[in-house]
Amino acid sequence: MSAVREVVIIGSGPAGYTAAIYAARANLRPLLFQGLQPGGQLTITSDVENYPGYPEGVLGPKMMEDLQKQAERFGTEVRFEQVVAIDLSRRPFTLKTDFDSVQARAVIVATGASAKLLGLPAESELMGHGVSACATCDGAFFKQKHVLVVGGGDTAMEEANFLTRHAAKVTVVHRREDFRASKIMLDRARANPKVEWLLNKAVVDVLPFADKKKVRAVVLEDTRTKERMEQACDGVFIAIGHQPNSSIFAGQLDLDETGYIRVRPGSTVTNVAGVFACGDVQDKVYRQAVTAAGSGCMAAIDAERWLEAQGGH
Ligand code: NDP
Repeated sequence: MSAVREVVIIGSGPAGYTAAIYAARANLRPLLFQGLQPGGQLTITSDVENYPGYPEGVLGPKMMEDLQKQAERFGTEVRFEQVVAIDLSRRPFTLKTDFDSVQARAVIVATGASAKLLGLPAESELMGHGVSACATCDGAFFKQKHVLVVGGGDTAMEEANFLTRHAAKVTVVHRREDFRASKIMLDRARANPKVEWLLNKAVVDVLPFADKKKVRAVVLEDTRTKERMEQACDGVFIAIGHQPNSSIFAGQLDLDETGYIRVRPGSTVTNVAGVFACGDVQDKVYRQAVTAAGSGCMAAIDAERWLEAQGGH
């Protein structure tokens, strides 16, 4: 086991890298674990047009590369490893990856959130081959095609509208008749002539062509009558929400009923002294790159001040 680190950051989205930039510039020599998806959710988007400072927009993966470089420039050690277990019961805290065990005086959690999936075997087999959880990433592959969007929230409405830029027809499949989506988003989708609706239907299977490289249809089950039908389509976009990546902290950090880490309002302070949370893992309201980056900055400042109060670093 190596020497105790001042700060370990878990996660490599805008929150994690921004925390790293601030912690490194405060001479805390942070170690950052990137996790399984270095760069986080922005690496599966295309143009980011709402991050201040890029008047022409920037590609998500490029922005994350730049953030990593900026964090490394000030001395962040970045490792392509996933933290699989953590012990916050005593200080220094212990973090285990598949390869190593590390101790840290302070931990910044920036593990983000992931798109929820339906949990069907065919869905994961066909991910990237007609099944997607990201319209902005994959919409352009469905020019003049018929795609389904599963979900009844704002994400589903936004994705449905976006996909009509490429697809000939977009069918929203929702398991109820009522929508969780806001009225304005729902009205916009309803007014779009390329959007059609299949309500009270659940997707229970996704059917590929024989070569398993493309989707040809889904099996829908009527949620009231349980009757099943096949619906031909070229692609399926799953838009049923996100879940915070907080499972390794369960039982140690306070989580809300949907798994988001609870922080003291106006700060990144969790219920465990020395552990700070930032970005989407503690934010189900804003979920933006810029708000994640802002809270990453807060986490680094909170950690720095906490370490200083503990007796300097
Ligand atoms: P939501 O939780 O709001 O909606 C999820 C939808 O998916 C619901 O309609 C839900 O159905 C459905 N769903 C969930 N699980 C399943 C399942 N297993 N099978 C079938 N359907 C399922 O998530 P969103 O991602 O849409 O939105 C999250 C937050 O982000 C909201 O606060 C939203 O307002 C915000 N947002 C805002 C946007 C904007 O303003 N531009 C854009 C996108 C998101 P049911 O209703 O039956 O539970």
